Amino acid sequence: MLLGCIADDSTGATDLANTLVKGGMNTIQIIGVPAPDMDIGETDAVVVALKSRTNPAAEAIEDSLAALAWLRAQGAQQILFKYCSTFDSTDAGNIGPVADALLDAMGADFTIACPAFPETGRSIYKGYLFVGDVLLSESGMENHPLNPMTDPNLVRVLDRQTPNAVGLVELATVRKGADAIHAAFDGLKAKGIRHAIVDAVFDEDLIEIGHASKNLELITGGSGIAMGLPDNFRALGALTRRSAPALPQIVGRSAVIAGSCSKMTRKQIAHTRRSWPSFNIDPWNIAAGKPVVAEVLDWAAAQDDRAPVLIFSSADPDEVAAIQAEFGREEAGEMVEKVMGQVARGLLDMGVNRLVVAGGETSGAVVKALDIRALRIGPEIDPGVPWTEAIGGVPLALALKSGNFGAEDFFEKSLGMLP
Ligand code: ADP
Repeated sequence: MLLGCIADDSTGATDLANTLVKGGMNTIQIIGVPAPDMDIGETDAVVVALKSRTNPAAEAIEDSLAALAWLRAQGAQQILFKYCSTFDSTDAGNIGPVADALLDAMGADFTIACPAFPETGRSIYKGYLFVGDVLLSESGMENHPLNPMTDPNLVRVLDRQTPNAVGLVELATVRKGADAIHAAFDGLKAKGIRHAIVDAVFDEDLIEIGHASKNLELITGGSGIAMGLPDNFRALGALTRRSAPALPQIVGRSAVIAGSCSKMTRKQIAHTRRSWPSFNIDPWNIAAGKPVVAEVLDWAAAQDDRAPVLIFSSADPDEVAAIQAEFGREEAGEMVEKVMGQVARGLLDMGVNRLVVAGGETSGAVVKALDIRALRIGPEIDPGVPWTEAIGGVPLALALKSGNFGAEDFFEKSLGMLP
């Protein structure tokens, strides 16, 4: 194994694996900390998908260190810690605490933090993160149910999460190319800086940053930071194969499960509801102890099995705020996630074998409920989201989408690609 990756949620892991596959690396995604004896055969890269974005920092650290130990035991030459391109975190973590713990465990003293992903509109300038044309804090992310992002300045955001010094490599340096970026890393390191936010506006910036990072033991960032890494291994002659990702050849029933409350997922739902049978899960019914899972599954069983169904809990920010005010942010989220997991299990038992899931945490809950351990990464649907196929277990095609990803017609488009 050349590159070992630790991702803090499952859609983010898939997005990263997708980038590595496009760069020519054979990639397998593993769900959760792998068992010590897990055999993955020969592969260029492994992405371990944790569910460590929003749990307490101590748990996130423990799981990340266990993943690190397994990856290093498999011979990983470099480690990438992947988080969301919108830097999803709170002052309690988990980006800073996990990055510090990984550095300590590796005996390293410097890493970078670069969540930029220009293809999906995430760019960093002077340390400020933009989503499309607006600052992170005006992008809708300020209303995220679990980690509202109200400060767009990543140097400040990360500084609140680590006792160590945080610096910045500005775009003016990045534009000079890999050697200048590498020199900037050395300069920051000499000043005792342990984490450097790195500006990036275009894909070519990320490629230069990737090249400049070839000797870093640990890199942290969004999936975009992986764009320049395959070249580093190719230059060493270590990458000999080219993967040709194939679509899952799975024919059968299709369903979409959406638990993301992001703007884009709500648009995708509004678009698709017009033509598909859909079921809106009301979290107040879950809280009231009504048999919501049974209701959803009875409804799904009564639909035409040739037509895809859409099942969603997604709601507007004011509705989300109301339920959170009653039950607390995490409790409300977990309550819905648990139902989504049970619904997915029921759908699978009903013969659904092509499943699209919208929402990072929601995808994590679904994958856990279905007991999926590993995924083969297939071709891309929309930027950052590939089709995947479960390895071991029943045949299942899965598309796991982070809330804001995909175009408005994502649900139809994804299922339309399958045979
Ligand atoms: P994203 O990828 O957009 O961040 P996630 O699935 O990661 O989406 O996060 C959305 C969170 O909101 C999940 O914890 C989910 O259970 C929760 N959620 C879903 N529907 C509702 C709702 N109607 N009210 C409150 N929380 C909800």
